[in-house]
Amino acid sequence: MLSTMQDVPLLISRILTHGSTIHGSSQVITWTGEGEPQRRSFAEIGRRAAQLAHALRVDLGVRDDDRVATLMWNNAEHVEAYYAIPAMGAILHTLNLRLPPEQLVWIVNHAADRVVVANGSLLPLLAPLLPHLKTIEHVVVSGPGDRSLLDGASVQVHEYEDLIAGKPESYDWPELDERQAAAMCYTSGTTGDPKGVIYSHRSIYLHSMQVNMAQSMGLTDADTSLVVVPQFHVNAWGLPHAMFMTGVNVLMPDRFLQPAPLAEMIESQRPTHAAAVPTIWQGLLAELKAKPRDVSSLTQVTIGGSACPPALMKAFDELGMRVCHAWGMTETSPLGTIARPPAQVVGTDEEFAYRLTQGRFPASVEARLTGPGGERLPWDGESAGELEVRGPWIAGAYYGGQGAEVLRPADKFSEDGWLKTGDVGTISPDGFLTLTDRAKDVIKSGGEWISSVDLENALMAHPDVAEAAVVAVPDDKWGERPLATVVLKEGAGADFESLRSFLAGEGKIAKWQLPERWTIIESVPKTSVGKFDKKVLRRQYAAGELD
Ligand code: ADP
Repeated sequence: MLSTMQDVPLLISRILTHGSTIHGSSQVITWTGEGEPQRRSFAEIGRRAAQLAHALRVDLGVRDDDRVATLMWNNAEHVEAYYAIPAMGAILHTLNLRLPPEQLVWIVNHAADRVVVANGSLLPLLAPLLPHLKTIEHVVVSGPGDRSLLDGASVQVHEYEDLIAGKPESYDWPELDERQAAAMCYTSGTTGDPKGVIYSHRSIYLHSMQVNMAQSMGLTDADTSLVVVPQFHVNAWGLPHAMFMTGVNVLMPDRFLQPAPLAEMIESQRPTHAAAVPTIWQGLLAELKAKPRDVSSLTQVTIGGSACPPALMKAFDELGMRVCHAWGMTETSPLGTIARPPAQVVGTDEEFAYRLTQGRFPASVEARLTGPGGERLPWDGESAGELEVRGPWIAGAYYGGQGAEVLRPADKFSEDGWLKTGDVGTISPDGFLTLTDRAKDVIKSGGEWISSVDLENALMAHPDVAEAAVVAVPDDKWGERPLATVVLKEGAGADFESLRSFLAGEGKIAKWQLPERWTIIESVPKTSVGKFDKKVLRRQYAAGELD
């Protein structure tokens, strides 16, 4: 028997309509680098999104399922594109502007994007690629930048503001199937070609509700969130969608992602919340130490994307910014777990340990651990295995390309349809995930596993160490051994022996896990989304560049 409830599809247009009316006076504030930031109310964003949808449909001929790419920083126009494109029935494809050019070309051609909306400041990146982008017919340019870079390009070039000017300020958003494609995002091609994840209206809607729950980010219209995580990195962790549901004001840094402007934004715009990967926060911390600012408004910081080093969490706590650690991936929309300690440990000595975990699974994300032989492992906080997940905002396949079947590679999806995350860890009986490593980063030494993350966290707790990345290197006797690559703080002089005894001290790291190889480097290479790029370190070591 079916229920008697209304079958109302969960659509992005509903989030937009809600945000731009009920929360019409909330604002998207975009940093411009000089003078007052640009302020745009949610009501205005709603009107401009309608105008953009008319322009795309009428002037550019965008039809249902057409892919419209964005090559943009975090700003108000990007939020408008976030809503207009899926709400009208087309598909938003956010391009990662930090990918190597040949990967961007591959991705645009694979997705068969017809239009790209680009920030003027990114034309130096886009213009040389255009001759290789086979399916792009239109480029829409927004914000400052040299347009002459597009002279002679064999595409139609439009000015964003001219295109939307005079268009109707409302749009009769179609009643789509909630399972229809709304947005797509490619994982960075760390192994093989990048893989396209396609989010549905339904998955984004449900994910947004979860982001807003008190046990997730729990923000309200009294908050302002500084969204540093790029809109091209898993939809800025779902924040732009979630915030239109609750009226949270949004502070967008545009291209000003360096520590000094971020500190200035925090001091002058007084956000209450911010979200970014650990490397951004390491940079901000150094900046605040060098030049203290009033950052007292910022009381909640969401950190994810890679493990939050305990030393970083402590340092932020001391500044009055409470870190909340979360785990996710492009394939999980991304919210997979979030570390809100259970009520009974809040205020006790146990609380910090809970906050350092990757967090608890929300109601809609099911999890299981699989051992090396495919066996299910218990949630005992000790048995470590590969994490597999499933749920309404978890990918069940990758985009195969136009006209092609979706892809379900056996190393990414189990036979019964669960996502194999490639992350190794334990789950406690009360559902807290602790990741020990990525399957491909774990160091397999003499039949035992050494967590590269544990070694890094222990090293980064040393007062002389700014950053540390540990990778597995081949070893005749043990198979693999850890190589510690360390970035020292300016003027610091710690040597390897003192670092080793620091690691061994207080039983932090077992003796057999201590690295015997190490090297000082100037900075840890980073991926396109600011994580440690260990494959570069492994390559450098193999080429004899790290001895
Ligand atoms: P990429 O694979 O290019 O890094 P994603 O952003 O999708 O792209 O990365 C997801 C991966 O990032 C996860 O599988 C996990 O290995 C890592 N990750 C994300 N959040 C955390 C976290 N809080 N702690 C440890 N690792 C994390």
